[in-house]
Amino acid sequence: MERQIKDVIGIGIGPFNLGLASLMDQTDEVDGLFFEKTPEYVWHPGMLIETMDLQVPFLADLVTFADPKSPYTFMNYLYEHDRMFPFFFHRHFEVPRQEYNHYMQWVASQLKGLYFGHTVVDVVDKKDAEVPHYEVIVEETATGEQKYFQARHVVLGTGNEPLILDGMDRLPNEDVMHTSRYLFEKDHLLKSKHVTIVGSGQSALEVFLDLLEEQDRQGDMKLSLFTRSGGLFQLDTAKFAQEMFTPEFVDYFHTLSLSQRKEALNTLGPLRKGIDPETLTRLYTKLYHRTTADQDSRVLIQPMTEITGIEAENEGYKLHCRQWQEEHEYTYQTDKVVLATGYKPHFPDWFMERFKDEIEWEEEGMYKVSRDYQLLFHDQRDHHFFTLTDLVHSHGAGATNLGLSVHRNVHIINTIAGKEVYRNQKDTTFQQFSMKNFQ
Ligand SMILES: Cc1cc2nc3c(=O)[nH]c(=O)nc-3n(C[C@H](O)[C@H](O)[C@H](O)COP(=O)(O)OP(=O)(O)OC[C@H]3O[C@@H](n4cnc5c(N)ncnc54)[C@H](O)[C@@H]3O)c2cc1C
Repeated sequence: MERQIKDVIGIGIGPFNLGLASLMDQTDEVDGLFFEKTPEYVWHPGMLIETMDLQVPFLADLVTFADPKSPYTFMNYLYEHDRMFPFFFHRHFEVPRQEYNHYMQWVASQLKGLYFGHTVVDVVDKKDAEVPHYEVIVEETATGEQKYFQARHVVLGTGNEPLILDGMDRLPNEDVMHTSRYLFEKDHLLKSKHVTIVGSGQSALEVFLDLLEEQDRQGDMKLSLFTRSGGLFQLDTAKFAQEMFTPEFVDYFHTLSLSQRKEALNTLGPLRKGIDPETLTRLYTKLYHRTTADQDSRVLIQPMTEITGIEAENEGYKLHCRQWQEEHEYTYQTDKVVLATGYKPHFPDWFMERFKDEIEWEEEGMYKVSRDYQLLFHDQRDHHFFTLTDLVHSHGAGATNLGLSVHRNVHIINTIAGKEVYRNQKDTTFQQFSMKNFQ
């Protein structure tokens, strides 16, 4: 790691920054380093449930949308692992999440300039230097040694962290856990007589289904699911709805005012929060088969019910429940709880300390982001702070979507290079969103 000013330093190596590194690897126009605090590449390890698939087709891999000839395509991964024929016969576009994780590990193992086991502990804006840049301070986990690196631009890709409801974070981790820890605690869960899941998003249903399958082997374990949502609703995977995950729609969304964007996000709820149709079908089929086998279902699914509190009681936990439509409050006893309460953007502590007063905000908690994913500073600058994290309010429902992340990385590379290194796909929708250019 030589001491010079690089073009880019990427903070965090999840799929988004890994995709950026993969595209940068194939061009001489932009160079960089990437730092990741975990010791190796692994994608949401607590949720790598064996039978669960990616929710986007494999073409939304790290590079294909920008560079289908790249050595880092999912197709090349299959080819290099002699898996083309099974994939061909399997005829399934949504590949298993475990396989996708393995694909990303394979890419990460080939790229230069990725450093695992290195936490970015500070970023200092050297705006008055002869060449304005950022100094990135990195701590190596194994040794505790701090190292200093410089780059003209940084790209924040620190992803999300579990969202846990107030008070529920103080309960023992192995008894009341977020879905992000599910596989780490699964053996412990299976020893209990009653597991309750809180939530009804994709993660909630995946855990529910996995435990339902275990229930056949576990005999007397009971399973419950509570959600404050009105029901177990399906993700909108219809073709025209999916056009909201295109560069065209991002262009349109970004031009709207904040209040228009918030309103648009409300109407796009079914695109962002529903359950994959295949997961729902598997669940329904499983329950149906139990009725034909005349089995006791040992399952409770309770929508419209908010969990307002959890407290330890009788070697288990008492859930405070509220059926909001009937305005009925009651308590419910369980042994273990899995919180499928979602995620929130993760910002390292230094981010707010260093940059809160330097950048522009749309309102509290929502920074201003340019179309090219730069944070807007009060001063004019040519050394940019890009972000791949927390973009829903500025760039729409596709901000956390794997397919659109390639398009995002193309914007960033082209902006840094000052030319079109990778071509941006145009005319990606049949629908037209803006009337402004209408003749
Ligand atoms: C279980 C699950 C399944 C999903 N499935 C899909 C799907 O099928 N299709 C889809 O489109 N989207 C999916 N998503 C949404 C989204 O694609 C993923 O969350 C994706 O991982 C986001 O990538 P990322 O790079 O932003 O963040 P992350 O994958 O969260 O990676 C961020 C990385 O930054 C590191 N980091 C944080 N702080 C620092 C620091 N200070 N220094 C160094 N490193 C740091 C973290 O350790 C982490 O590895 C899924 C999300 C989840 C939770």
